[in-house]
Amino acid sequence: MKSGSKKGAFWKALGSFFIFFWMVAFVITCSTTLFITTLQSSLGLEFTKEELSAAAKLTMTNTVFISLLFAAIDVLRRKFLVERPAQKITEAAEKMIAGDFSVRIQPTAKFFADDTFNDIVACVNQMAEELGGVETLRNDFIANVSHEMKTPLAVIQNYGQLLQSPNLSKEQRMEYAEGVTEGARRMADMLTNILRLNRLENQQIFPKTTEFDLGEQICACLLQYENVWEREGIEIETDIAEDILVQADAELLGLVWNNLFSNAFKFTQRGGTVSVSLTADEHYAVVRVQDTGCGMTAEVGARIFEKFYQGDPSRASQGNGLGLALVKRVIDICKGEIGVESAVGAGTTFTVRIRRFCHEI
Ligand code: ADP
Repeated sequence: MKSGSKKGAFWKALGSFFIFFWMVAFVITCSTTLFITTLQSSLGLEFTKEELSAAAKLTMTNTVFISLLFAAIDVLRRKFLVERPAQKITEAAEKMIAGDFSVRIQPTAKFFADDTFNDIVACVNQMAEELGGVETLRNDFIANVSHEMKTPLAVIQNYGQLLQSPNLSKEQRMEYAEGVTEGARRMADMLTNILRLNRLENQQIFPKTTEFDLGEQICACLLQYENVWEREGIEIETDIAEDILVQADAELLGLVWNNLFSNAFKFTQRGGTVSVSLTADEHYAVVRVQDTGCGMTAEVGARIFEKFYQGDPSRASQGNGLGLALVKRVIDICKGEIGVESAVGAGTTFTVRIRRFCHEI
């Protein structure tokens, strides 16, 4: 214990002694006076000065002793039931202020416990756990964003330096300028995805529900990849049911199809096949995006919806691991379901199931 707090404890103990002394003295004086007066009047007794003086001394000693006893009990009570738990809470709060959210307080044993303190302890522990979770997410997020930013920035920097060299041919200048543009595009894509995800997670995007033809939307999205499948010699198979109307946010669902299609083309090698189907019953529409690409292991499959997770490091430069996190968030907002089946070397199938009409959600 520090000398300052020792001194403080001494004055506190002295203070409580005086309080108890005055209280006990008051009670004993009143009781004794009443007792003696009653005895004198009923028995007609007369006390000598010496007898009164001896009784007064004895009463005084008694008062001092009882006050000391009460003060000691009070000091111990305060120490174990108030100061110790309060000290533990203060120390935990100080650690949290310093950024250590791993701190947890042991609740006081039931026998000594003051329920109020144990309630506070439970709240502080829960607060530390919540803050710890948020802090981990924040740190992971910052680490991931910084890591993902580094690659395109390094690319831009390299091509920028190359562009400064004198005597470049026209072709070289075009190639380096394209490198800079590509790096900038990757960063812009990532920031757009981060902002979208952030808005979706904070519910700043409220679905703008309209009724539209889902088959038409899927075909329009797929056609955007025509140059990709032609360039890569990928075969396309479609089985899209007609006149399937859904009530949903078309822009958000567009994000889903775009991400699933771009992944299917990205992970399918030349000569492979990508198949897209749409079926529906009265209540649900089911979209299947299947490819004959590289597939993935069960461990990768279990993590693909995590933010920034990329299963195949050799293709890391072609994405940022945010696409499927966005897809999952949109499907959750639309109260739909998404599943994946995959086998390494055999291909992958994503199945999305959404309710067709919003009054059924
Ligand atoms: P990105 O494609 O930018 O890496 P995504 O969130 O879209 O990020 O996908 C996360 C991971 O899921 C990918 O890195 C890949 O490992 C895996 N994945 C997604 N779609 C497929 C697919 N069709 N075939 C194989 N693996 C896939």
